[in-house]
Amino acid sequence: MTRTDVLIIGAGAAGLFCAGVAQQLGLKVVLLDHSPKVAEKIRISGGGRSNFTNILMDAAQPHRHFLGENPAFARSALARYTAEDFVSLMNRHGVPYHEKHKGQLFCDRSSQDLIDVLLKECAAGAKGGEVLHWQPCALRSLTHHDSGESAPHYLAQTDRGPLQAQAVVVASGGLSIPQIGASDLGFRLAAQFGLEVVPPRAALVPLTFEPQHWQKFAHLSGLSLPVSIQTTRGKQVAVFEEDLLLTHKGLSGPAALQISSYWSPEQALLIDWLPARDLKHELVALKQRSRKLLANELASWLPQRLVQAWLDNQPQWQQPIHDTPDKALVALAESLQHCALNASGTEGYKKAEVTAGGVSVAELSQQTMESKKQPGLYFIGEVVDITGWLGGYNFQWAWSSAHACAMGLASQLNRL
Ligand SMILES: Cc1cc2nc3c(=O)[nH]c(=O)nc-3n(C[C@H](O)[C@H](O)[C@H](O)COP(=O)(O)OP(=O)(O)OC[C@H]3O[C@@H](n4cnc5c(N)ncnc54)[C@H](O)[C@@H]3O)c2cc1C
Repeated sequence: MTRTDVLIIGAGAAGLFCAGVAQQLGLKVVLLDHSPKVAEKIRISGGGRSNFTNILMDAAQPHRHFLGENPAFARSALARYTAEDFVSLMNRHGVPYHEKHKGQLFCDRSSQDLIDVLLKECAAGAKGGEVLHWQPCALRSLTHHDSGESAPHYLAQTDRGPLQAQAVVVASGGLSIPQIGASDLGFRLAAQFGLEVVPPRAALVPLTFEPQHWQKFAHLSGLSLPVSIQTTRGKQVAVFEEDLLLTHKGLSGPAALQISSYWSPEQALLIDWLPARDLKHELVALKQRSRKLLANELASWLPQRLVQAWLDNQPQWQQPIHDTPDKALVALAESLQHCALNASGTEGYKKAEVTAGGVSVAELSQQTMESKKQPGLYFIGEVVDITGWLGGYNFQWAWSSAHACAMGLASQLNRL
């Protein structure tokens, strides 16, 4: 029987970081993962360069960049371990990085730099802490024992034998990318201990359309352009100004991924293909001075292929702008700037960058991430019902929730 202070299930972003902080606070940690390789999702993140945080994150207002049933839950952890804190850690390890777009920080070289930082933090013990890496190793069962004969503890049956721990941290992530080890273990453990799980769904994921509704766009696959995209979820209106990529099945690129987290089948997407323009007034004004075909004028603002697809089979728009009635110009502007599309689905967990939903935050302490019902059981990272926007917010949630948890563990186990 192996005895340890803490068993952490999942050696991904949150689990690795939590293990490092906890062992530096003097805790003995077993970090278990069923995958043979550590942090596979970090490796593939950010196109292989990990967008590891976002310096525009506003910890005081988590609803600006996070969704879930109660994004305000994240405020405490995000405020106590900030994007600046993680940047300082990268600086201490001398990792070169750069800002790409809207506050997103990426490694200059590769995600391996980030993985190395997390592994070094797990090895840098000073107060008698340690991290044992059990990988690949499956968890067969987890039970809690509080009989009064011994101090309350958890007993895990694993591929490497039984393990007794005073606390357990579930950091097994969501369902996205099952090809590299994602599983529903975290949701099953939550259910086993009586915790509510908000139904999971694929998020930051390409959207798909019924083939008959996508005919007009299918041959434009590969086209990318800046748009404004909007939808409504409950009382919330979500709007993103980002690049949209047309695919043979539907929509991808940052604009589609961002809006997918808010999308529901009953709500249309509203796209403005020319977000910087007041097209109605500009077309009517242009009519006074241009002799060109309407298609040629439009092609100075939009990709030629999109213009052709838009005007195809529309005789009222296939003439010189000078001869086009104002009514037809207004209708064209309306169709381009308030284009309602009904997606029929998503490309699912195989393509989703994250899983929305998860362990209900109503079940957890926002100070420590510990279950309110089940002492000594903690949930961190993506398995929790806190989902970030594209742009480094999901990793920051992994770091912040892991840090809050490590501090909570040290306090529970009297190491502070
Ligand atoms: C393609 C892609 C790109 C991304 N890019 C970014 C980005 O640039 N920036 C950003 O902020 N976010 C990005 N994300 C999201 C980010 O990777 C996740 O939100 C983050 O990794 C979540 O951390 P986590 O530790 O909670 O889960 P994970 O990192 O997924 O780790 C979970 C770990 O648990 C293990 N596990 C699962 N089931 C079991 C089981 N049954 N038994 C034992 N172990 C188990 C897994 O093997 C894994 O190692 C990206 C995601 C994807 C898929």
